[in-house]
Amino acid sequence: MLLSNLSDFVVVSADSFPILCDLDGVVWLAHEPIPGSVDAVQRLRDAGHRVLFVTNNSASRVAEQQEALARIGIEARGDVLTSAMAAALLVEPGERVLVCGGVGIVEALEHRGAIVATDAIVDVVMVGFHRTFDYEIMRVAADAVRAGARLIGTNDDATYPTPQGVIPGGGAILAGIAVASGVSPIIAGKPYAAMAELVLIETGVDDLSASVMVGDRPETDGLFARTLGCRYAQVWSGVTARGSLVSPTPDLTGANLAAITDLVLGR
Ligand SMILES: [Mg+2]
Repeated sequence: MLLSNLSDFVVVSADSFPILCDLDGVVWLAHEPIPGSVDAVQRLRDAGHRVLFVTNNSASRVAEQQEALARIGIEARGDVLTSAMAAALLVEPGERVLVCGGVGIVEALEHRGAIVATDAIVDVVMVGFHRTFDYEIMRVAADAVRAGARLIGTNDDATYPTPQGVIPGGGAILAGIAVASGVSPIIAGKPYAAMAELVLIETGVDDLSASVMVGDRPETDGLFARTLGCRYAQVWSGVTARGSLVSPTPDLTGANLAAITDLVLGR
């Protein structure tokens, strides 16, 4: 074997599987680190695990999310996977896309080689969370979908928790356009298949059965673990209170990422 070919092979031994981490409620709450999470990521990496941050956030640029992680002490360049990146996999290079969402979607589409269009003559309408959504945007988007464009949502989260309380999520915006156009959307983010494909592409691993998805929301993170065929670790540091009935049944449970890390590392 030529040495130059070595990088084509990803060797994952049984004890160095990738760890997939949700961000909000696992690593941080509104960019404030959850106690022990920064150290836990470092311990996992020191033990040889690649830690990937898998988020349904499609509004921010990847660099912004990496910078926010760097500010709390986590170097994450190349390790942040967003629902915008997953949604872009559902678009072919050269296709015209009407974006009803944030800059994260525009970035992912441009990286994919798709054309971000401002008129309604498009192949795809892509919807994600944004704070400037209004009736006119809904009208143009629904028109395009009725004219034959595919309706793709980056995620279908109905709400997001914020320090100011619960706010409508990208899924609420998507539902409006779906109702107005009469078309069911294809959804990319956790727990759906496009996000799983993104993880497989990024890890280069085709069997993730030893891996662990750490999340706070069973209907998103737990089901995503099922989609990937990996283990699900439920933490109580986010939207789900300790003692709640959790479905799907987690393989591991812990107060937070630090506790899950202790279990994964056998300490
Ligand atoms: Mg979460």
